[in-house]
Amino acid sequence: MREGGLEAPFRRPLDWENPDFYDEAKLDAEMRRVLDICHGCRRCFNLCDSFPRLFDLVDESAKGEIETVASVDFKKVVDACTLCDMCFLTKCPYVPPHEFDLDFPHLMLRYRAVEAKKNGVGFADRQLAETDRNGALATKIAPLANWATDCSHHAARNALEKVAGLHHEAVLPKYSKKSLEALAKETPVEVNREAPGFGRKAVIYATCFGEYNDPSVGLAARAVLAKNGVETEILHPHCCGMPLLEQGLIGEVAASAKQVAAAFEPWIDKGYDIIALVPSCALMLKFEWPLIVTDDPKVKRLAASTYDLSEYVVGISRKEGLAEGLSPIEGGVAFHVSCHSRAQNIGRKGAELLGLVPQADVAVIERCSGHGGAWGYKTANFETALKVGKPVARQAQSSGKAYIVSECPLSGPHIVQGMERLDAEAKKPALLAHPIEILARAYGVK
Ligand code: SF4
Ligand code: SF4
Ligand code: SF4
Repeated sequence: MREGGLEAPFRRPLDWENPDFYDEAKLDAEMRRVLDICHGCRRCFNLCDSFPRLFDLVDESAKGEIETVASVDFKKVVDACTLCDMCFLTKCPYVPPHEFDLDFPHLMLRYRAVEAKKNGVGFADRQLAETDRNGALATKIAPLANWATDCSHHAARNALEKVAGLHHEAVLPKYSKKSLEALAKETPVEVNREAPGFGRKAVIYATCFGEYNDPSVGLAARAVLAKNGVETEILHPHCCGMPLLEQGLIGEVAASAKQVAAAFEPWIDKGYDIIALVPSCALMLKFEWPLIVTDDPKVKRLAASTYDLSEYVVGISRKEGLAEGLSPIEGGVAFHVSCHSRAQNIGRKGAELLGLVPQADVAVIERCSGHGGAWGYKTANFETALKVGKPVARQAQSSGKAYIVSECPLSGPHIVQGMERLDAEAKKPALLAHPIEILARAYGVK
């Protein structure tokens, strides 16, 4: 038996349409097989809370072996997983084609899918996963929604905690009064015909965060791309389904994938690239969807046509060269590489993007922030999320930079919250939602 190996690792399609996938005895056997390997290996001890929980469970069981751990306790391990993919991608020597054939995050996902099929998903979790519906509603009442979800409004937040299980101290994303698509229509931009990249065309996939919560990322992306000669359209056909995936609702993710792939197909036909504003959404389009929907050529084609935003801009700089006009940004940037950027296997494209700014001063932080999408907002997980993210908060604090930015828009506020816990009095860097905003400032287009 050989660890590692020279063959490229790969991920197997999720066999979610096979009845065996939901067979509890088979799932239990697979959990025991994999958790036993992990207990012997322990490489992932410091990635998240799932592995420490697993090791404690086994070590404290009667024989100190997986056989004496009750199956019901596996849920504690599964519940701590944010599906960040870091164990699969950065640590595990036993992923396919290794004979152990181990994909820890997808096993956690299978467990959740079995739970969801058997017991359904709780009402609050189900509602939280409806990001398009929630976003469309909340933008209509944005001042009220933002008031009610502000941490300083204790009565409202305590009520929200009771009803929705969201920790009263968790900083929730604000809603925009207007959607990104609407704002983009109101404020057309002129494409720079002199730019080396002129002739490129791209659809910016707004994503629910960009569409409803913070349109600044999409507007900055459009401005930077226009400066670089790229003609863009901003569209948000539907959510990518990541919150549904977190709940194990794989069939609903498949439906989202088919819907979005069908909406983008005519644009791809016309020669447009697809750019996702949020790394988690890019990961879904590029990698998770083709593993979930294996029989739809549109999904496959969309995956091959999709770029992460940082990846796309760095691609222009390498291929055609960027348009002139960038100025230095004072004070430097602490940059957090999000797990779902790393999971795309594209290198540190956000850091490369920041490095395009003259005299760039970038402190790169490459660790999980601990947030994990909606996972980190929940009462049961909030303190764990801060604990896992503490090393990131420490590095950001000690970097002393003027700006802090993560490609994951939910991680940024979480890191700042961690910094406040470390030292409430210390001067905090200005928080931006994506490195593209630094580039937009450097171009003077924001
Ligand atoms: S996917 Fe991330 S959170 Fe889940 S077990 Fe692996 S490292 Fe931990
Ligand atoms: S996921 Fe892989 S690397 Fe991590 S503890 Fe398990 S066997 Fe080891
Ligand atoms: S990952 Fe992106 S599209 Fe998917 S729910 Fe989150 S913001 Fe929306």
